[in-house]
Amino acid sequence: MTETIDATATRRWIAEAARVLSEQRHILTDLDAAIGDADHGVNMDRGFQAAVARIDALAADASPGAILQMAGAAVMSSIGGASGPLWGMAFRRAGQQAGDASELDGSALVGMLDQVVQAMRGLGKAEVGDKTMLDALVPAAEAARARIDAGATLAEALTAAREAAEAGVQATIPLQAKKGRASYLGERSIGHQDPGATSAAMILRALETAVADGGA
Ligand code: ADP
Ligand code: MG
Repeated sequence: MTETIDATATRRWIAEAARVLSEQRHILTDLDAAIGDADHGVNMDRGFQAAVARIDALAADASPGAILQMAGAAVMSSIGGASGPLWGMAFRRAGQQAGDASELDGSALVGMLDQVVQAMRGLGKAEVGDKTMLDALVPAAEAARARIDAGATLAEALTAAREAAEAGVQATIPLQAKKGRASYLGERSIGHQDPGATSAAMILRALETAVADGGA
């Protein structure tokens, strides 16, 4: 178990996210078929495959911040749907926050998750309860901050963040969508799990896995 996220773990995160999003793309697409246009799985799969390809082409000594900024640029330019600019901006801002540090500790993680949330809020104007990816990411960022403030390890904070995200995903089911395509359905969006929140929790689980694997 490592206590920081270095460049190798950052690359492992994006690769693991790409693997899981590809494996789960039919589930994401089915969720989006119910309340959107059935492209969320394809979008996320394409975006993260592009991110892996672009990161593979980066110099071997690229910092975690540079890797995340490249992932953001790749996601932004390869996804057509709402999730492209949202995740693209989120990764770019997280990468900027990381700066040129070679390793990111727990408080750096908290800072990055805050940037992810702020980037998405700024661009999409959604809030918690609107049935979007923020319903997974805001509680995750808050849980990570609370654990780090309480003296927990990076791995413990990541587990708390992932658990909060997964609870947030379940909490989207009874909500009526207020943003994005699902909002066009009005009350008919109630009773369905939000696809974007679901993939957001998968991306956080991939980070938890990437950090845990570093100590294996
Ligand atoms: P599109 O809606 O353009 O087809 P996707 O299907 O890839 O894009 O993504 C849909 C997801 O995007 C939704 O499930 C929701 O979580 C998220 N989303 C949509 N609009 C917003 C927004 N304004 N802010 C944050 N997330 C949003
Ligand atoms: Mg869609």
